[in-house]
Amino acid sequence: MIEIQNLHKSYHMGKNSLHVLKGINFTVSEGEMVAIMGSSGSGKSTLLNILGILDEADEGTYTLDGTLINNLNEKVAAQYRNKFLGFIFQSFNLINYKSALENVALPLYYQGEKRNVRTEKAMHYLEKVGLAEWASHLPNELSGGQKQRVAIARALASNPKVLLADEPTGALDTKTSYEVMELIQEINDEGKTILIVTHEEDIAYMTKRIVNLRDGLIIDDSIVQQVRAKAGLNV
Ligand code: ADP
Ligand code: MG
Repeated sequence: MIEIQNLHKSYHMGKNSLHVLKGINFTVSEGEMVAIMGSSGSGKSTLLNILGILDEADEGTYTLDGTLINNLNEKVAAQYRNKFLGFIFQSFNLINYKSALENVALPLYYQGEKRNVRTEKAMHYLEKVGLAEWASHLPNELSGGQKQRVAIARALASNPKVLLADEPTGALDTKTSYEVMELIQEINDEGKTILIVTHEEDIAYMTKRIVNLRDGLIIDDSIVQQVRAKAGLNV
């Protein structure tokens, strides 16, 4: 589903430049659930933004579902982003003056769906995340966990091939974090390919494979059982 080869990315600020990704290689198959781990500043979000076609690498190749993504023009890139990818963010990124249902329906509007289809599909995904009764509520009437569930429903609404989540539990308490991760696990069980950026081990352990970034390189890429065994934990 995803194949990246020799990916490099630097940020330039005046005379200074920061080489953040220094030759990243990995592949993700359809149906995988992968954590991208690493300390703060290790380049996790930079990598996820490139995978999300929100940013471009300086060097290397990125193939998504068989299509080479490098050098697509902005319009085509946006089409791929809308069609193939769903995003979940730490800060939820919901629109405050729109109801839960309207937030979930929004990506469908951009896909040109008719109003009744948008409402029907949005309701379906709100039901899926257990929030049917909260459809008409505004984001500020919801708890953090509920907001993230709305954001997950929104990410699913356009039926993307891949879900990309950047620290999806970063703003949630421990119990709510596990509940949100269990929901994401259920979505993966149904076959969705999912990549989750996190700096929290407990969250990474709830995926199936952990890619560990340090100093711009992948220093480990193992299935969760192997990582846990190495850490001396129950497998
Ligand atoms: P992580 O998500 O692992 O915390 P990031 O990918 O956000 O790391 O950032 C990696 C490094 O790149 C950090 O040192 C950060 O300060 C820097 N960085 C991130 N985005 C930008 C940007 N737009 N301009 C300049 N530097 C940036
Ligand atoms: Mg980050």
